[in-house]
Amino acid sequence: MATYIFGHTTPDTDSIVGAISLSYLKNKLGEECIPTRQGEPNPETQWILNKFGFEAPELKTSYAGENVYLIDFMESSQSPDDIAEATILGIVDHHKLGDLKTDAPLEMWVRPVGCSNTIVKQMFDYYDVEIPKDLAGMMMCAILSDTVIFKSPTCTKEDTKACKELAEIAGVEDYKALGMEMFIVKSDVLNATPRELVLRDFKDFNMGDSKIGVGQLEVVDLSVFDTMKEDLFAAMKELKEEGGRHSVLLLLTDIMQEGSQLLVLSDEADKIENAFDVKLEDNQVWLKGVMSRKKQIIPFLEKQF
Ligand code: MG
Ligand code: MG
Ligand code: MG
Repeated sequence: MATYIFGHTTPDTDSIVGAISLSYLKNKLGEECIPTRQGEPNPETQWILNKFGFEAPELKTSYAGENVYLIDFMESSQSPDDIAEATILGIVDHHKLGDLKTDAPLEMWVRPVGCSNTIVKQMFDYYDVEIPKDLAGMMMCAILSDTVIFKSPTCTKEDTKACKELAEIAGVEDYKALGMEMFIVKSDVLNATPRELVLRDFKDFNMGDSKIGVGQLEVVDLSVFDTMKEDLFAAMKELKEEGGRHSVLLLLTDIMQEGSQLLVLSDEADKIENAFDVKLEDNQVWLKGVMSRKKQIIPFLEKQF
């Protein structure tokens, strides 16, 4: 029986590439594994897949009775609905401890680094397995994406080291330039509907009794959103109502200015204001230096709920 490896809902590059890279390693180690995904690859991920000549993993959203490895998440809110009926053999992740439970012992590779693919690279080294050139290129891009070309406060020395080693294997000399090219692709927000944009990199979190959804868009120039704010708020309102969410937040991150415009719709906006010690104006506020949802947003929200 094959084992499936997949990342979180509304997958990002780390989730898609991680499913592929971890499956490759597991297969080399003699474990039959198939990479899958819980949703459509975003434009950045599709660009990377095309560039290095890979197909997207197959779409699979139900795993009852299957053996699985999770990569890049360990929250039930980011899992398939029937995850409780699957057997989790292992988790490779770089997020806070989630709320999933298992019946049996499992393999855990969880480290406070900037990207799951940094951990997968360390696993390749640990097992002394060679990484093919094109796979190395994709893993390198995943690290550049998750760490925002090393600018995110989540980036560690281990990420830069892994990225440089992967660039060498991939034969990419100027990996920062490639990272910039990738973020320009990511900044193309004009060909998507407001709803697609809010959902492009969207995660739900259960905090206390409240469901909080937090989306993030990382661009090289925030002015692309100037004419779009009303439409984004309308899409957020829809998601808030239909998902029974207490709050929907959207981070518009400017990777050059190194900060984020935070858009907020909440049943208790004061909790959001308290979390970041700010006052919202027109349901929004500029958060200087904030680039990471995981490190600079979620922990502060958790404390309020
Ligand atoms: Mg991710
Ligand atoms: Mg990640
Ligand atoms: Mg991210």
